[in-house]
Amino acid sequence: MTSTSAFSTSSALVPYGWDEAWADEFAPYEPDGLLPGRVIRVDRGQCDVVTDDGLVRADTEFVVPRDPMKVVCTGDWVAVDPEGSDPRYVRTYLPRRTAFVRSTSSKRSEGQILAANVDHAIVAVSLAVELDLGRIERFLALAWESGAQPVVVLTKADLVPEAATLAHLVQDVETAAPGVPVLAVSAMDGDGLDVLVALVSGGTSVLLGQSGAGKSTLANALLGEEVMDVRATRDADGKGRHTTTTRNLLALPGGGVLIDTPGLRGVGLWDAESGVGQVFSEIEELAERCRFHDCAHEAEPGCAVLAALESGELPERRLDSYRKLIRENQRIVAKTDARVRAELRKDWKRKGAEGKAAMEAKRGRWK
Ligand code: GDP
Ligand code: ZN
Repeated sequence: MTSTSAFSTSSALVPYGWDEAWADEFAPYEPDGLLPGRVIRVDRGQCDVVTDDGLVRADTEFVVPRDPMKVVCTGDWVAVDPEGSDPRYVRTYLPRRTAFVRSTSSKRSEGQILAANVDHAIVAVSLAVELDLGRIERFLALAWESGAQPVVVLTKADLVPEAATLAHLVQDVETAAPGVPVLAVSAMDGDGLDVLVALVSGGTSVLLGQSGAGKSTLANALLGEEVMDVRATRDADGKGRHTTTTRNLLALPGGGVLIDTPGLRGVGLWDAESGVGQVFSEIEELAERCRFHDCAHEAEPGCAVLAALESGELPERRLDSYRKLIRENQRIVAKTDARVRAELRKDWKRKGAEGKAAMEAKRGRWK
């Protein structure tokens, strides 16, 4: 039985991604008088939540605090107490559609949730330096693994003035990124920015990529000068810094939401086996045609992967990169507790598929 939700397009939460699907998820908590909200920041067991009542501070101690995978994180949709104590309490978080995790540095290998309910993972890649396709593939594995749709943005396109050269670079990246849109953008002269703005307007985005890739510049371009000017003036007179600079989740003026948490930018590979498979989907498809089910694509007879390598259909670089990421992933998995991994999968893989289907049905697929 599903209860019907009271979704309203005039809710202050709409700019933060509130939609009918979330309202439906929240419906069971409505009779208790709880308020829906989205977490924009977490620190020391408390979080800042945007609600229809404005920004509220809430404690997360009731939300299974011992399990690091169940800690409330930026991007979560939560149910908070309607009023009363300050801080209020987060009573629960709604099932996540997607999530980014990283391994913690502690001896016990556990995941740490960095961001939840991300629709687009934007991998920023600088055109100022030589393309490193292996590095792009690595970021894409993480992006796919989270459940979000990856997008590659080639930044600083103004540094490649020749259209033909730029087109070749885009093509090169496309060979390393099946199923992933690849855009070229210049934040400096604004080229391609409109495409990116349109893309991020349909959900929640994060920016991934190496230091110097142009992520801050892209974030500023998406947030618009207005927001940044306000922040600068406030900082200059020393006022309001805490209210404007500590948000890790921001509603964008052109629609959509940007999550930018410090830890997310440098996130590492963490049991991203299915993500790796999605980055190298053409190799996984070939492998299905190998004669032996457990073919290692080394020297087996009837190996479709080696045959594709031989014919030139599959670039050797792709196969090498695939093997490297699989090995790296196996090393990490060997150190990770199986229970935590199972928990991780159970939690949002299914929800991700459902949520994405609902979102796509509503908005129509962009491309
Ligand atoms: P981040 O470390 O990924 O956040 O990268 P930044 O946004 O700080 O950018 C790194 C450098 O690239 C800075 O010096 C920027 O000015 C420069 N940059 C960023 N975007 C562009 C662009 O579109 N064109 C050019 N020419 N330089 C850019
Ligand atoms: Zn094979």
